[in-house]
Amino acid sequence: RADENPPLIVSDLTVRFAGLVALDAVSFTVRPGTVHGLIGPNGAGKSTCFNVVSGVYEATSGSVHLGDNELTSLRPHRIAALGVARTFQNIVLTRGTVADNLMLGRHTITRAGFVATALRLPLATTEQRRHRARAREIAQFVGLGAVFDAPVAALPYGDRKRVELARALCMEPRLLMLDEPVAGMNTAERAAMAQTIEQVRSTLDLSILLVEHDMGLVMRLADDVTVLDFGRRIAAGRPDEVQNDPEVVRAYLGS
Ligand code: ADP
Ligand code: MG
Repeated sequence: RADENPPLIVSDLTVRFAGLVALDAVSFTVRPGTVHGLIGPNGAGKSTCFNVVSGVYEATSGSVHLGDNELTSLRPHRIAALGVARTFQNIVLTRGTVADNLMLGRHTITRAGFVATALRLPLATTEQRRHRARAREIAQFVGLGAVFDAPVAALPYGDRKRVELARALCMEPRLLMLDEPVAGMNTAERAAMAQTIEQVRSTLDLSILLVEHDMGLVMRLADDVTVLDFGRRIAAGRPDEVQNDPEVVRAYLGS
């Protein structure tokens, strides 16, 4: 895996479901080290775009590249191994503790295989310890240090959203895709999460693709913004340019 942080290049991406065009020849580039906001009304195609980039959905046509690597047609675990991590619009956590969930994130990058781990071979246990230490570090980084060994089911909603973020960070991604990271949060939780995302971007060497309905948050965090409506790209540019675009205003008022 190359050390350099590569761009994500989405070119002419089209996704058709039976009788419906969810994405219609959409193109955009996430520049290395930046936050790219992907916004648009409900049903615009934002989650579909995430699902194609992470390999959950297949593209009908067009391509997705991470630097020189073509992601289109790769399986999800291969894409994850290339450094693409995501969170889900609706929380998807396993049972168990925060630590258990974060170790799942580490698994995608564990070198010692499952067999070695199961047999507790020396290399595997050393690696496990190292992974657990890193997971704890990341938990502390996102404000979950005190609940590292707590069951996720016992955590408040805002903290469970943070576990998703921490699990994605445990994959040491070069591209972090966040699908509505503050959805369902109250004002205080939103502000805290925005601060955490800012910390992630300023501390870690990665790019962020951010889908979020909270316009204030997108305007505050994003360097570039792409606006989708009914699967089409209707605007793109800096946050202040996009915010005042008549097409964008119309799309949001019409929804
Ligand atoms: P957004 O995340 O912007 O709200 P989505 O990407 O979830 O939008 O959905 C875009 C469109 O594609 C919607 O009309 C949605 O109903 C449709 N869609 C999404 N996933 C599927 C699927 N698996 N099968 C059929 N239609 C889908
Ligand atoms: Mg969505």
